[in-house]
Amino acid sequence: MFEVALRLLEKLENHGFRAYVVGGFVRDYLMEVESNDIDICTNAKPKDIRSIFKGSCLPSEDYGSITVILKHIRFEITTFRRESSYIDYRRPEHIEFIDDLEEDLKRRDFLMNTLCIDRTGNIIDIFHGKEDIDGHLIRTVGDSYQKFSEDALRILRAVRFATTLQFHLSDEVYEAILRAKTFLKKISYQRKREELDKIFTSVHVKNGVSLLLKLGLDEELELPRLKYVSNFDDLIGIWVQLDVQEIYPFTNNEKELITKINEALLVDNLNPRVLYTYGLYVNSIAGNMKGISKREITSRYNRLPIKCRMDIVFDGEEISSLLGRKPGPYLKDIFKDLETQILSLKLKNEKDDLMTYLKKMYL
Ligand code: ATP
Ligand code: MG
Repeated sequence: MFEVALRLLEKLENHGFRAYVVGGFVRDYLMEVESNDIDICTNAKPKDIRSIFKGSCLPSEDYGSITVILKHIRFEITTFRRESSYIDYRRPEHIEFIDDLEEDLKRRDFLMNTLCIDRTGNIIDIFHGKEDIDGHLIRTVGDSYQKFSEDALRILRAVRFATTLQFHLSDEVYEAILRAKTFLKKISYQRKREELDKIFTSVHVKNGVSLLLKLGLDEELELPRLKYVSNFDDLIGIWVQLDVQEIYPFTNNEKELITKINEALLVDNLNPRVLYTYGLYVNSIAGNMKGISKREITSRYNRLPIKCRMDIVFDGEEISSLLGRKPGPYLKDIFKDLETQILSLKLKNEKDDLMTYLKKMYL
């Protein structure tokens, strides 16, 4: 990744621009953790970036930032900018493209996110961000209260980084979050969910949730059940416990899953019919929330004689021809009956046994 990034910087510089890797990638590089994308800042304007990386740009609606894919790596290229006064506690009213790296770094959130790498691979550390990385400290670039009131999402970013990197918030950041936290109400639920998901999927999720509670962010985030969450094994499982489907956005698949888990919570997750109906994943989450081990559920699930209708040795056509009837909706009831018989081990899932049973019951 590093090599590809340097080549990309070189390409921009060969066109007469200055360009640096900035932010998360440099932080992760110094900490020797893996990054999934690379942020670049440059004095090249979006139209210049587009013409230099013609074929590799993704269409983007966010002006000033262009996504380029090279060697399967995602680069976010952003023109140096100054941001005017903020509106909505999230967005600057006006963005001005500028020529100066230092000025661009000033608008960023945390000192640890201001480090840059230049074309030759040198680290540029104008604001001493490395000190914070070494000290595992989160401090803002400039006044913390101002940073958080300009863009309240930064509050959640601070908690997210504190969680995933196991860094501490400086006293100033901590106090400023307490003062600015009400502005979180102005941030879209989608953005809040993205940050919360990163906290909830961190290996240090329990510390993250404790920090959210300690800062009293549960109230601002409208998560009254956060203090009762007791199982942290699964992201959707956590959202089920939070019970906020009405206000936070979920995809249709997620909504369906949440409904199923809620249903599975009300029944016996070791019962074969329940295991069969809801499947391993849903039962594991629901069971886990009730203190049944994943191992126990998996071993019961693996012992099921059938795991889905397709596993039954006869298909619909075979059954109807055996019964001398045209296929029709009646097959649904027969399958349901066969499932019950097989799952309760009263009937073996073998052709001879099924044939005898079908003839006896349905001919
Ligand atoms: P990660 O990619 O691991 O989520 P990151 O720090 O790279 O972490 P990005 O969202 O990719 O986060 O942003 C890239 C850089 O842009 C950050 O490192 C930071 O310098 C700056 N940045 C991002 N979001 C904000 C914000 N809300 N306010 C100020 N600066 C920001
Ligand atoms: Mg990044």
